[in-house]
Amino acid sequence: MKSIFTNRHGGFSHGDFASWNLATHVGDDPANVELNRVKLRKQVGEYAIMSQVHGDTIAVVDQVPIQVPIADALITANPDLALVVMVADCIPLLLCSEKLVAAVHVGRAGLMNSVASKTVAKMRDLGATQISGTIGPSICGICYEVPQELHDEVIAEHPLATSKTRTGTWALDLPRALIAALEIIDVKVEVETVCTFENEDHFSYRRNQITGRQVGVIRL
Ligand SMILES: [Zn+2]
Repeated sequence: MKSIFTNRHGGFSHGDFASWNLATHVGDDPANVELNRVKLRKQVGEYAIMSQVHGDTIAVVDQVPIQVPIADALITANPDLALVVMVADCIPLLLCSEKLVAAVHVGRAGLMNSVASKTVAKMRDLGATQISGTIGPSICGICYEVPQELHDEVIAEHPLATSKTRTGTWALDLPRALIAALEIIDVKVEVETVCTFENEDHFSYRRNQITGRQVGVIRL
């Protein structure tokens, strides 16, 4: 296993969380989430998760942390430990180098606070040279409608984020802006161009506020 992205199928949860919901904080039955996590563990081995808060804290881990770190990026050099980022529209970014891997949660706030670039810098501090990235399914630039004020605030920093919806209202293309921001610092990114909002095989917070979380997983 190098990196994988799950979708909403193949798990044990019901209703709004059907079926492979991996998050405990969304209102799903904890017993079913545990079954879903056991299934993930069978597939990817031991893994670390984080409590994501749209911040720019990076946690460097070498084993499964006793307490789930409050962070939006995880880095490890341990080839026996997978890293997990949970999403339902935000961008799951997985970074890979010879010595280190990282899992990063990038939403609008994360684009603005440069959590991805900071994670790349931290990986380089820790000895990574060539770093490449993979972006998993997230909401696309046509579906992520925002008020004009918010649009303008983001494109002042990231002009490539500018976008419009099918009806011509303002929107943000976060993947395009993130890819550009990473290219500037020499990180090439592969993209899975599935839109979570449009594709019902995925959980989407925009589509259904009460919903589960899919994950991106990477291991060295
Ligand atoms: Zn879309």
